[in-house]
Amino acid sequence: MIWQRRTLFAIAIAAASFTFGLLIPALKGNSPKTANGIQIKLDLNNQDPDPIQAKSLALSDAKVFQNLVANLERLEQEQKRIYDFSLPQAFQGKTIKSVQVPAERKVIALTFDDGPWPGTTNDILYILKKNNIKATFFFLGRNVQNFPELAKIVVNHGHVLANHTWSHPYRQHSEAAAASEINRTTEIIYKLTGAKSVLFRPPGGYLTNGLATYAAKQNQSVVMWSADSQDYRTSSANMVRNVLRDASPGGIVLMHDGGGDRRKTVNALPVIIDKLKAQGYEFVTVPELMEMQKQPVANR
Ligand SMILES: [Zn+2]
Repeated sequence: MIWQRRTLFAIAIAAASFTFGLLIPALKGNSPKTANGIQIKLDLNNQDPDPIQAKSLALSDAKVFQNLVANLERLEQEQKRIYDFSLPQAFQGKTIKSVQVPAERKVIALTFDDGPWPGTTNDILYILKKNNIKATFFFLGRNVQNFPELAKIVVNHGHVLANHTWSHPYRQHSEAAAASEINRTTEIIYKLTGAKSVLFRPPGGYLTNGLATYAAKQNQSVVMWSADSQDYRTSSANMVRNVLRDASPGGIVLMHDGGGDRRKTVNALPVIIDKLKAQGYEFVTVPELMEMQKQPVANR
């Protein structure tokens, strides 16, 4: 009888161990939690019907999967990087043509409108990179939609993305129509590039057709210019002359990377940069220019 009781006891222990062997990995392994509380469903029964292998997988799965998830989250964050261009409060809702910078700062901001535009935007990026210059790009929403990869490259190179409406209209706008032009553009820039646009440039520089008024109401800064290259209607040599004539510390230079054939701008840009550098200018983005100012400029 003793033999029988021992055998029964051993069988009971074996059965219990086997049950626990199945239960513990099932409890531990089915839903490990990451640091962020994300549940990962691990169906051990489907993946591996062998309880011994399932048990060894269960011991390491939580850590392995935590690492996997952490890597995925990091990759996702890199893809969805947010570019938050800060705008000093003094400039929110204001219209500026230039910025008053401290006397010792000989700085100027290059700005490019109407892109992104295949070919010329790439060429301009190349010239800026070669010269280690960051600029400000006023994009059209419809061009961002058409060339999203190009828009991403511009922001990834450290340039500032800003809003130049969806379709470049000049006509009078109701508030709803202005909202559509501007908000759609802000949204697509953010959606496709991660850049939060805080600057607005009205097409044609028109300040009274409802667009600039709406942008200012949204606390954006309406950014005009102090040096117009007139690249939309003149030769490369004249562009250089125009910019150099009107260049000033705290100034904003208007050029175009899109909206047509901008090869003349591409040709003029290296000369403009070289001449301004020779005069001691440093190049900054419009938000950087704003950060250098203590008081907002009285405009117009
Ligand atoms: Zn324009």
